[in-house]
Parts: sequence; C-alpha cells; structure tokens
Amino acid sequence: MDHCPICDVAVRPENLLRHLNDIHPRHPDTPKLVERLKAEPGRIATRAPSRPLRVSRWQVLIVLIVVLVGIVAYYLVTSGSHNTGYPCVSGNGLAYHWHTTLTITSGGNQVTIPGSIGISFTCMVVLHTHNTDGVIHIEPDTPEQARVYSIGDFFSVWGKPFDNPTGMTVNGTPRTPSSTVGLYDRETIALEYASFTP
Ligand SMILES: [Zn+2]
Ligand SMILES: [Zn+2]
Repeated sequence: MDHCPICDVAVRPENLLRHLNDIHPRHPDTPKLVERLKAEPGRIATRAPSRPLRVSRWQVLIVLIVVLVGIVAYYLVTSGSHNTGYPCVSGNGLAYHWHTTLTITSGGNQVTIPGSIGISFTCMVVLHTHNTDGVIHIEPDTPEQARVYSIGDFFSVWGKPFDNPTGMTVNGTPRTPSSTVGLYDRETIALEYASFTP
C-alpha cells in the first residue's frame, strides 16, 4: 500500500494517480506529483491489450465445411426431385427384377444408350440403366410398384421424348411403333429413328 502524499490515506500504488486527480484536483502539489508518478512504472493500471480480431485456420475450415454442407444439401434436394413420378427403389428388386434390352438406331447407326439413366445421388428410379449395354433394369420393391412398365415410361425417366420412331421390333418381330409396349424380362426392343440424339 502507498499513502497519498497529500492526505496520507492508504491507496494502492496503481490507484494513486487516480486518487490525486479525483480527490485533490486543485491541490497545488497535485500537478507535480502527477508528473512524477506518471514516470514511475506500475502507476497506471495496465489494461490487458485488446487482442486484434484473429481468424484461425480452423475457423476458416468450419465456415468452408458449413458452406459445403449447404451446397451438398441443395444438390441432394434438387437432384432428388428430378425424376418425380416414378418411385425410388432399393436396387434389390424385392418384388421383381427384370431386364429388357433396348437398341436404338439413328439413321441406321447404332446409338449408345447412356449408363446410370434414372440413377442420381439420392434416388435409383425403378427403371434405370447401369451400363451402356442397353439393358433397362426394372426393379420394383413393393407390390404397388410391381406393375408392368412401358418403353414410354423408360423414355420419361431418361428425359427423352419417344417421338415418332420409323420402325420398332420386339424380340425381332416388327410391330407398329408405340410407347405403350411393355418392358418384360429378357425381351429385346429395337427402335429405329431417322434422327435421334441420346
Ligand atoms: Zn439396378
Ligand atoms: Zn438389374
């Protein structure tokens, strides 16, 4: 403890300056004392220096992760609603698991049917392709899903218009082209178009 040189009251060393300014502002000795005390270390209460705003790496990382999660969630929601109208399935074909082979020609040239038609990040549609082999997989899980689907249903999942094929065969037998032809197991549907862009 220090003592005020003017009133002799006990004062903490770091509070003496304030004491002089507050209690004896007009005392003739005060300006001199204040000058002297200011020069002494420890007289002015040291305040913890305010730390500058620092952004650490992990804070940046957390923000990045939050942004990424948002983007992925947006992608999941939008891609999940892409193929509405046809059920998403497990891929195990619990009700039945059929394969219909589809071939398409455009102006006489073989068209490659893409793989992963009907397969998005969140949904495997009941009708889908896995590879570019032209095999349509039909994999309903429940009795309600286990109807006979048509080639038109597959084109809907694919997002292509069935339009007007110039020729159609089912298991090699010509027939009038129609989008209502059913997709049965181990059958082959061939479609001929004047021009078709997969
Ligand atoms: Zn499958
Ligand atoms: Zn399959």
